[in-house]
Amino acid sequence: MNDKNLKEKSGILIGRMQPLHNGHIQVIKNTFKEVDELIIGIGSAQISHTVENPFTAGERTLMIKKALIEEGVEGDKYYIIPITDIMNNSTWVSHVEMLAPHFNKVFSGNPLVQQLFTEAGYELSKHVLFDRKLLSGTKIRDLMINDGKWEDLVPKSTATIIKKINGVKRLKHIVLKM
Ligand code: NAD
Repeated sequence: MNDKNLKEKSGILIGRMQPLHNGHIQVIKNTFKEVDELIIGIGSAQISHTVENPFTAGERTLMIKKALIEEGVEGDKYYIIPITDIMNNSTWVSHVEMLAPHFNKVFSGNPLVQQLFTEAGYELSKHVLFDRKLLSGTKIRDLMINDGKWEDLVPKSTATIIKKINGVKRLKHIVLKM
């Protein structure tokens, strides 16, 4: 490929997005102030149908894609790739590098992710947490399980997808089986 075609600054944000919520969307939109394109890595891609990770990588891909269309983010600004977990934290960054297109900046509020990428020599962006008390996957899953109001905490299209796949029923069923 001609070097001129390569975008100048490329970033990566890895998250389980269980489910995608408005905090993720704000972070994703803010990254474009710093990078030309963003790789969105779906973390723990191999895990689904558990209390902490109820949704499949495919369902999460759909949530992100539909929400970014809703937000008017152009499709050529980002890639969505599944990233499976591996047993060894010390080789995880190499694993990510193998799966993802080239990137030079890392966005993460997760201390372990920050630590591993820093040790590998990557530039880390400052990460602001938005309304963390409510905008957290744990909180939203908890509201789902306990018949709370979770819909306003996620993008409209994410709420639609979760309803379509009977996501709340799935989560409650998993909890009951524990
Ligand atoms: P997450 O969905 O909780 O968060 C994703 C990102 O969004 C994080 O950077 C987080 O700080 C940010 N975020 C969440 N809520 C926010 C809010 N309200 N405002 C602003 N930002 C917010 O996902 P996660 O658990 O951080 O994902 C990390 C992934 O990396 C996991 O899948 C984990 O398994 C994986 N990982 C794997 C290994 C390994 O396989 N050895 C090692 C390290 C990390």
